Amino acid sequence: TAHLIDDPYRPARRKTRTLNIGHVAIGGDAPVVVQSMTNTDTRDVEATVAQVTALAEAGCEIVRLAVLDEDAARAIGPIRKASPVPLIADIHFDHRLALMALDAGVDGLRINPGNIGGAEPVDKVVAAAKACGAPIRIGVNSGSVDKKLLKKFGGPTPEAMVESAMEHVRLLEERDFFDTKISLKSSSVPATIAAYRLLAGRCDYPLHIGVTEAGTPGRGTVKSSVGLGVLLYEGIGDTLRVSLTGDPVTEMDVAWEILRSLNLRARGPEIVSCPTCGRTEIGLIQLAEEVERHLRPVTEVFTVAVMGCVVNGPGEAREADIGIAGGRGMGIIFRKGEVVRKIKGEENLLPEFLNELDIFLEELRKE
Ligand code: SF4
Repeated sequence: TAHLIDDPYRPARRKTRTLNIGHVAIGGDAPVVVQSMTNTDTRDVEATVAQVTALAEAGCEIVRLAVLDEDAARAIGPIRKASPVPLIADIHFDHRLALMALDAGVDGLRINPGNIGGAEPVDKVVAAAKACGAPIRIGVNSGSVDKKLLKKFGGPTPEAMVESAMEHVRLLEERDFFDTKISLKSSSVPATIAAYRLLAGRCDYPLHIGVTEAGTPGRGTVKSSVGLGVLLYEGIGDTLRVSLTGDPVTEMDVAWEILRSLNLRARGPEIVSCPTCGRTEIGLIQLAEEVERHLRPVTEVFTVAVMGCVVNGPGEAREADIGIAGGRGMGIIFRKGEVVRKIKGEENLLPEFLNELDIFLEELRKE
């Protein structure tokens, strides 16, 4: 369900080490992995399992959970048992929570070793992570750069963020731990891009990319798409998160659409629809929305075209695996370039096309 797309223009990926979060490989030749984070109270096992499951169904391949206290760390056990995807425990400052989360079966940690109280806690966390085969993500946000580095670089500059990340990395390397991935998030898109470019030149660890505090779904989608799009086009980024204010499930469509738009990966059908214009002779906007809704649970990869007129519509619809082009009070359905049906009456376009889509899907699944 998550194909790599064969395209001579597909951006080449930066060479990195590979690590495994549970059964999911990150870096090296592995495809770019889609992640998100729950916003339920981790101590509420039922609600958290429900959200992890919803995220996985929508295409999330690894889920991160905030572990704020011991009850949350203990909840990891039952959540992990019920989860269809690997889990990462997000921990700040308290190394005991990291040890508990590993003990409870978490697949990876997000923790900054420089912030957990000195050498001894780092020794313990690294030893436990090694014993469990759990990778560690170091995550530096522009808001969390160390005071000494802020002074040295005159603020949370990309250089300061990279230096901060590398300080944490060194604490792991000194203990022969290399199952590390790194993120550098800023709410500024240019600063995020600059920081990752710098970091990509300094190490071969896989990178987790994202634009933090991107905002509500409308603006956040644009900001994330611009930031992640530039990085991925340059080959930077082995796993990503689109951070949107709201239900994390909404992040999935955006994340997958970013990967699809660069032909890096695909999941589900690509729906091509025209923007409508003065030539549009059918209720195209509603038709396209209904088609999208109908295909929402579908994970097979194919193209669907929904076009508004018989002037330019058939051209696009012919290119698609299945498509419809509408005219005044009628429509033409195409499959792989061939006209399969002519439909009379605008009210029949949607039900007839959905029916054709179902037949198409049934055949596709038999192949
Ligand atoms: Fe206009 Fe037809 Fe193009 Fe749609 S396909 S934008 S209706 S010309």
